[in-house]
Amino acid sequence: MTDPHWKVRSRIIHNRRHKDVFGSPGSPTYSTTTYRFDRTASLLDVIEGREPGYLYTRWGTNPTIQELEQGLALLENAEAALAFGSGMAAISSTILAHGRKGVVCIGDLYGGTQELLVNHCQLLGIPVSFLAQDRLDQLDATLTTPGMLVFCETPANPTLALVDLADMAHRSHDRGALLMVDNTFATPINQQPLTLGADLVVHSATKYLGGHSDLTAGALMASAELVATVAPWRKNLGQLLAPETATLLSRSLKTLPLRVQQHNQNALAVASAMEDHPAVRRVLYPGLPSFPQHTLVKRQMKGFGGMVTIELDGGREAAATVADNLRLFLLATSLGGVESLVSQPCATSHHGISQQERERQGITDGMLRLSVGLEDPADLIDDLNQALAAL
Ligand SMILES: *Cc1c(COP(=O)(O)O)cnc(C)c1O
Repeated sequence: MTDPHWKVRSRIIHNRRHKDVFGSPGSPTYSTTTYRFDRTASLLDVIEGREPGYLYTRWGTNPTIQELEQGLALLENAEAALAFGSGMAAISSTILAHGRKGVVCIGDLYGGTQELLVNHCQLLGIPVSFLAQDRLDQLDATLTTPGMLVFCETPANPTLALVDLADMAHRSHDRGALLMVDNTFATPINQQPLTLGADLVVHSATKYLGGHSDLTAGALMASAELVATVAPWRKNLGQLLAPETATLLSRSLKTLPLRVQQHNQNALAVASAMEDHPAVRRVLYPGLPSFPQHTLVKRQMKGFGGMVTIELDGGREAAATVADNLRLFLLATSLGGVESLVSQPCATSHHGISQQERERQGITDGMLRLSVGLEDPADLIDDLNQALAAL
């Protein structure tokens, strides 16, 4: 019901699959698990594919969930999308559907993804290997058989290191592999991996897509063909999200372009202010000219995102002191909500891995990861300054 010539911002606001009989501008929530038929013959028409229709919600046939999926596909400029009960559900089903010949991970991954690959996929006999960014010359040798899956996150957590997606897509396809990208940190507003050549995009919709720290969901966007292969895995592993959550997420998507624009602006303001602070050794933010991969950032990203990592001189203690003294930034894990959050990677997301491995990934004890929210940036900078003054 939207005009394909409209811009994404207009289309996501008017994203609907069905006209509401009462004229409501939004859509009702179909909180149903099943659908009744008048006659057995018409039920068979749907089951046997002669007529469109809905049968059972866990299979993904639910108008509320399908409307959400239409919006998710629209945002990533994808042919199709699937909604999931969590980011990990989207990642696990996609890997099981497309990564059974082997998964090659580039750079650093979200802790949950790493656990899934190391603890569970290897147990199932799926070959998994990890290639650090400075060993990409070994990619060809690692992609030993056609049909493997290359997986990366960009920007990655918490160093915000980038992977060159156009180059990675090219090199994966040369070896008969698919490229899967976790686009959670960037959001489809700032970066569109499919447009750069990637085959599969996944999101933890729990973060920016949901945007209010009040729902858990995930998404996969890809061609209709690649999505169709994942759908039976989602169905039989029971990874669908509830229709109520789908409604909440559809509502969030309408403000995603607006929110991300403001996250970008606030994060740049915070990053610039922190770069001038004497107690801060280093600021990692893709939007700063000092960012190590700033040229690639400009080629690959349309906006720089809401995540800022700062490194303090005083190590673990100093980082904890600042985190404990912040008032507007809440001390909490997760990211992407309207409220600003702070976390110390060595005490949260990367607590479970050895100091040596953290150092290899460039994660130091003095690092603080900021998820810059939508408060007034002047208040956020004041809050950081007063917490830094406690050192
Ligand atoms: C949070 C997160 C996930 C996992 O998502 P859940 O919704 O918690 O399952 C995956 N990837 C990244 C980059 C994340 O930040």
